Amino acid sequence: AKKEGRNHFCFFSGELEEGLLQRHALELKLRHAITNDELVVVYQPKFNLHTRAIVGAEALVRMVDESGKFISPVDFIPIAEESNLIGALGNQVLLKACTEAAKWLISGTPTCVSVNISASQFIGSKLESEIANVLNQSQLPPQYLELEITETSLMGDINETQAKLVILKKLGINISIDDFGTGYSSLSYLKTFDVDTMKVDMSFVKDMLNNKHDYEIVKTIISLGQSLTLDVVAEGVETEEQVIALTDLGCTKGQGYLYSRPLSSDDFLTFLKNSVQQ
Ligand code: C2E
Ligand code: CA
Ligand code: CA
Ligand code: CA
Repeated sequence: AKKEGRNHFCFFSGELEEGLLQRHALELKLRHAITNDELVVVYQPKFNLHTRAIVGAEALVRMVDESGKFISPVDFIPIAEESNLIGALGNQVLLKACTEAAKWLISGTPTCVSVNISASQFIGSKLESEIANVLNQSQLPPQYLELEITETSLMGDINETQAKLVILKKLGINISIDDFGTGYSSLSYLKTFDVDTMKVDMSFVKDMLNNKHDYEIVKTIISLGQSLTLDVVAEGVETEEQVIALTDLGCTKGQGYLYSRPLSSDDFLTFLKNSVQQ
């Protein structure tokens, strides 16, 4: 590392170029996957922390690479947003998730499916009509669909958000605030927004037993949710100790590796049929 000047510059520019190539390769793969309907959706159950009954499932998108391995949405969702593919991706995920949930209903194990909506999907003008379309196509009654919208997406233009939420609620679906506590939020607007659920971000749940601040934040979010009469779901529940602490604080629902990793649609249906019913 003694060389400087030109070599140094080349080193950085080489790395930059590699990053761009990787990004470009991923974008091509994503385009291909969307065009050929090759995206996969997996389902992670949500549980009643007291009874361990399944109370819902979160749909999580995956892309499969040549070797059959999953590529994480953390890597390709931002690319989808930047390259104008998020709308098409989002619609495919919505249709797959609603079609699955319609199957769960027909199988005698009715379960609500939660679908993640990205910021640009939420802000875009076509979300409402797309949801109506997907509900119609899948024949899923609206009460079995929930949209998970991040706190940050909701905090854009407050009036627009409000208007949009009113239309979405009129369709009969549920709205959940995802990653609660991680964005810049104006808490006062929460009482005007007609939302059903609040998800405690897993970054707070993770260390809630070792870090006093995290514990206090989780406690405050749960109590805020309760006072607004929202359902509160804790994300990233990995230990029984967390379950005890969360239930002590009044949280009734959770999701995390302690209970189950995200499952393929077939495995989820089997899991559902074998699970404790509500
Ligand atoms: P998210 O909505 O906060 O989803 C929760 C993430 O935490 C998921 O990662 C899930 O697999 C993971 N997780 C669940 N339980 C545990 C646990 O106990 N411990 C730990 N460490 N992790 C756990 P995943 O599937 O990789 O998704 C990452 C993010 O990608 C999601 O975060 C969401 O923001 C985004 N995403 C996933 N699917 C979609 C989609 O269909 N559309 C959009 N727009 N975004 C999506
Ligand atoms: Ca989510
Ligand atoms: Ca989340
Ligand atoms: Ca998160």
